[in-house]
Amino acid sequence: MTDVEQIRSFDKLFIGGEWVEPATDKKIEVVSPINGKVIATVPDAQPEDMDRAVAAARKAFDEGPWPHLSPEERAGYLRRIGDEVKKRMPDMAAAFTVEIGAPQMIADAFHDNARKMWEDSSTLYQRFTFEEERSWEGGKGKLVREPVGVCAIIIPWNGPVATGSLKIGPALAAGCTVVFKPAPEGPVSVMMLAEAFDAAGLPPGVINVLPGGREAGQHLISNPDVDKVSFTGSTAAGRKIMESVAGRIGRVSLELGGKSAAIVTEDADLEKTLGSVVFAGLGNSGQVCAALTRVLVPRSRQEEFVTAMKAAYEGIKVGDPREEGVLLGPLAAKRQQDRVLDYIEVGKSEGARLVTGGGVPKGFEEGAFVEPTLFADVTRDMRIAKEEIFGPVIVVMPYDTIEEAIDIANATEYGLSGAVFAGSDEEAEKIARKIRTGQIGINNWQMVVTEPFGGYKQSGLGREGNVEGLSAFVENKLIMTP
Ligand code: NAD
Repeated sequence: MTDVEQIRSFDKLFIGGEWVEPATDKKIEVVSPINGKVIATVPDAQPEDMDRAVAAARKAFDEGPWPHLSPEERAGYLRRIGDEVKKRMPDMAAAFTVEIGAPQMIADAFHDNARKMWEDSSTLYQRFTFEEERSWEGGKGKLVREPVGVCAIIIPWNGPVATGSLKIGPALAAGCTVVFKPAPEGPVSVMMLAEAFDAAGLPPGVINVLPGGREAGQHLISNPDVDKVSFTGSTAAGRKIMESVAGRIGRVSLELGGKSAAIVTEDADLEKTLGSVVFAGLGNSGQVCAALTRVLVPRSRQEEFVTAMKAAYEGIKVGDPREEGVLLGPLAAKRQQDRVLDYIEVGKSEGARLVTGGGVPKGFEEGAFVEPTLFADVTRDMRIAKEEIFGPVIVVMPYDTIEEAIDIANATEYGLSGAVFAGSDEEAEKIARKIRTGQIGINNWQMVVTEPFGGYKQSGLGREGNVEGLSAFVENKLIMTP
């Protein structure tokens, strides 16, 4: 049995600027997907806790100084949070590695992203127009952008410190107050983030942190004192959240699933394309919303790509994410492993060709591991071509004309990311402009969260990152002056 060290447990929630006793003694057991053993516990926040946190955030918004501070003053606090996050990055990354199974290198990169996001949020006020003069036929006035109010921020487990920071930074920069509910999987690194908030000394109630499950989340968003919900996670949960707040016309921003395509043309360079496609599909065991999970290749080049991708996948070191050189750790949890293995069975039964992988790697049966898996001859009607698998499973889809490739790329309910690999950047850009997606790379792939990030279609609603991300946390008020 692989040994996984115990990591820090927490027994309090961060509400109203203090670490408080939870309403009940219910605990979330944090299970390491490396060996399936409990490595820590944190409180499992209940509806009563959520109500208490919303009341604290409401008070901080309605009575507190926070929404009325100048944007520069708030930026000072955000810089302090950034400094506190920086100090804790190695501890957060180490906890994340054992609680979610991300290889050290990926854990470090995610936490470095969090640092970048706090730096970015603390300079947003220099780029965002909080107030401007307007005039129109017969009048003039001021357009004032005010904070939307109390925000419920709900995130999944696949990169919680970075995902949380991407939302909370702009929310605070706008002058909102926040109740932050991370997922029950992987909450320890997030509780360390709560310690960074505490150390930065924001006014009480401006930010509250409570890990909890789906029901607690549902209770949180249903509280009428919540003005805005910002959510990242599955499309199914996003839809449910939207329905739940519809009655009060609640504001929502949703960053949801993806099934992003890499379109490879006749004259694309094999080596260059491979360099991007392999990493963009399998990073964090494929548990990335923007992952490139469909590779569209000309039928005449399918075998060339499949052979090269097979060799690359079989060369990837799978194993204990704490070990040097390991590129693929376990999935985040057993239930995620079960889901991915089910999808592999679905792919086989649909008639797709399993090229490599498809099972649990030998010697790693105790954890939540799945081999890097490649399917070829995948067609657009197959479920593995349409649904988000969220694991290390990539499908190669042959096409006959570039028009057909564009059509296939657009033929899912998603539209989050993508890439085009072609002989020239100009040709690639022409194709990219026809893909209905929020971000798309030309002969490269990135997930850029300091620029507008978000989805077309059922990949979400609204954008995060930069001033577009801040815009999601303000209301526009027109003051008509005499
Ligand atoms: P999920 O969307 O159900 O949960 C994400 C977060 O939302 C968690 O904090 C959860 O407690 C909360 N939540 C769920 N339902 C809620 C509700 N009705 N009201 C309020 N909060 C709610 O995701 P999951 O169950 O962890 O994963 C299932 C699948 O979702 C994955 O296999 C993957 O396909 C997809 N997923 C996508 C992303 C992404 O970034 N796009 C992230 C995680 C999961």
